[in-house]
Amino acid sequence: MSIDAPARRRTRVRVNGTVQGVGFRPYVYRLAGELGLGGYVLNDSHGVLLEVEGSAHAIEEFLARLGPDAPPLAVLERVAAEELEPGGERSFTIRESPRGETPDAPITPDSATCEDCRRELFDPVDRRYRYPFINCTNCGPRFTIVLGVPYDRPLTTMAGFTMCPECRAEYEDPGDRRFHAQPNACPACGPSLSLLDADARPVTGDPLASAVNRLRAGAIVAIKGLGGYHLACLAGDERAVGTLRARKHREDKPFALMAQSLAAARTLVSLDAPAQELLSGPERPIVLAPRRRDAPVAESVAPGAPELGVMLPYSPLHHVLLADVGTTLVMTSANVSDEPIAYRDDDALARLHGIADLFLLHDRPIQTRTDDSVVRTVPRRGVLRRSRGYVPGALALPGGGTRRPLLACGAELKNTFCLVKGSRAWVSHHIGDLQNYETLRSFTEGIAHFQSLFAVEPEVVAHDLHPEYLSTKYALELDGAELVGVQHHHAHLAACLAEHGEAGPAIGAIFDGTGYGLDGSVWGGEFLFGDVSSFRRIGSLLPVRMPGGERAIKQPWRMACAWLDSSGIEPPAAWRPTAELARSGLASPWTSSMGRLFDAVAALAGIRDEVNYEGQAAIELEAACDFTEPGAYPIWVSGAPLVIDPRETIRAVAADVAAGVSPGAIARRFHRTIARATVDACTALASVHATDFVVLSGGVFQSRLLLATVSGALTEAGLRVLVPERLPVNDGGIAYGQAAVAAVSTA
Ligand code: ZN
Ligand code: ZN
Ligand code: FE
Repeated sequence: MSIDAPARRRTRVRVNGTVQGVGFRPYVYRLAGELGLGGYVLNDSHGVLLEVEGSAHAIEEFLARLGPDAPPLAVLERVAAEELEPGGERSFTIRESPRGETPDAPITPDSATCEDCRRELFDPVDRRYRYPFINCTNCGPRFTIVLGVPYDRPLTTMAGFTMCPECRAEYEDPGDRRFHAQPNACPACGPSLSLLDADARPVTGDPLASAVNRLRAGAIVAIKGLGGYHLACLAGDERAVGTLRARKHREDKPFALMAQSLAAARTLVSLDAPAQELLSGPERPIVLAPRRRDAPVAESVAPGAPELGVMLPYSPLHHVLLADVGTTLVMTSANVSDEPIAYRDDDALARLHGIADLFLLHDRPIQTRTDDSVVRTVPRRGVLRRSRGYVPGALALPGGGTRRPLLACGAELKNTFCLVKGSRAWVSHHIGDLQNYETLRSFTEGIAHFQSLFAVEPEVVAHDLHPEYLSTKYALELDGAELVGVQHHHAHLAACLAEHGEAGPAIGAIFDGTGYGLDGSVWGGEFLFGDVSSFRRIGSLLPVRMPGGERAIKQPWRMACAWLDSSGIEPPAAWRPTAELARSGLASPWTSSMGRLFDAVAALAGIRDEVNYEGQAAIELEAACDFTEPGAYPIWVSGAPLVIDPRETIRAVAADVAAGVSPGAIARRFHRTIARATVDACTALASVHATDFVVLSGGVFQSRLLLATVSGALTEAGLRVLVPERLPVNDGGIAYGQAAVAAVSTA
């Protein structure tokens, strides 16, 4: 060896993060090959371990490019390098994982069809031309098909399909985009479509072509997707959409839409740059955006709603379907009213009988039911439902997390649960409202599934304080774990702080429908001062009775009655027995819920007496707002603890109603009134508690108008405003907040 030969080095690199099942090893293999480096790469229980050997210059370049050039689905959390003695290794290999090690975080979220696969899908000479199950290491199903770990084909719902020689060759070639792509498939060896009629009898002919023809003729087709079934029909066909709405009885929620392209989406809603990025990103959520007045959709897609929920095709089946139909489809979760989305074939056929005219199925089973995620960017970025595309991505817990593995059971409505190991928190997919057997089963099975996927045996279990929540009961029945009860609104506050890595303390204005208070009453219009570990209640909405308890949630007129009575106004004759009930206190708990106040005003304004889902009255009240209306109502904000007293507001609303003022004007005045009171309360409390830091959370802040007005005014007043971004502002964020609280209290 000449003394001029460049110095050889050998470096060991440990990479942590989402680096398994995302094509990281073949990427390292290619990069090392390109730079002429020897060594190896392997997956182990901590992530990826690799060693490279070669010239110092090549190793430096390797290290410099390792992160920036990584495959799209990889998330590198930590890269640590260590120098070793060179051993003379000239070739680079992908090594087997060590046996018997439990994986750290091997499962990634499902990812939308990548550009390479989409190109092949529409390439007439490609062997996967129009194949609805094309995928690769950079895209395709993951979480929804995983049965267990290690993430390997036999432990996915692809186990029943044997790769043909061509697919097998791709799978085994480290230089191929499909190296170790577990769901790899082609028309010769993979899943296929089938079509059944309304009575589940097979329909002959090309399933996709027949489904497309029937859709174009106005039929309602149940389509098996990635995480469950959708019900689809032409979005522009009033008769089809109206029929779908009628068949999904008691259903008032807006239907989601699937547009063929970004350009098509732009004809439906106005999209800012972040919204366009979200629409076309790998997560492919439903993006909720302001509806265009000339949007070419049937009226009954989203009656009266100022926003439409739009998504782009995210599976190859969607791509070919939308291309062939050639126009926007309604693509709504296939369920009946409150039930969870159907995802198993026999169950879907039974439950959707009488709703769907046709079933477009495939034979790749869905392991975990996963709804479409819902996000919006206006007035600021927020997630309304975090599910497909995001789950099971880990979130960090601040402060180094916890030594003791932890489970947080969440709340009742829009339930999610959360598992924690160290400083990583896995928030589950959207489970739904824990009020029926189906949902409870998803909850318990989901927890068991996550525990095995992430190898977490919880020693600490966090739960809501509400004794009647099924999630609380579940926690209390577990043996051997240390229980931590977390107050509902504190969990909302803690979730927002933890998500942003903030320690607090902050003023929390937490407005929602229902949350069990420390005094046993129903809270929901709360001002807290605290951090992740503790809080004090420093203010609230004036409490009123909730006549009939839970029934007042479904029947906003009951809250209207209670607020009239409490404001000294005689309710209409028909409501008098309810007013009596409220006064007696029987089955009428006290509530400081802001959501219920919005309900009451919606009922008083004649907008809605009864609701079919939580929050409906408030959503319609916001949608009704007449923006030419400049006025506001009187309201009192005073005292310590601070009280927002809206009795004057209620009297003024009643007077407006009596005077025939339009519901739109009442709605606008009311929103402005509550926004002003909230801003006044926050600024006063911030000054008393010597902080400039305010957290806004709780389901009431799903109101674009309220959130925009309050956060805008507080920011203008020089305060720092924090709002949940990656987790829902509603109860979907509770589990993560509980986890954050429990982690600090048991650390
Ligand atoms: Zn792909
Ligand atoms: Zn094949
Ligand atoms: Fe809540």
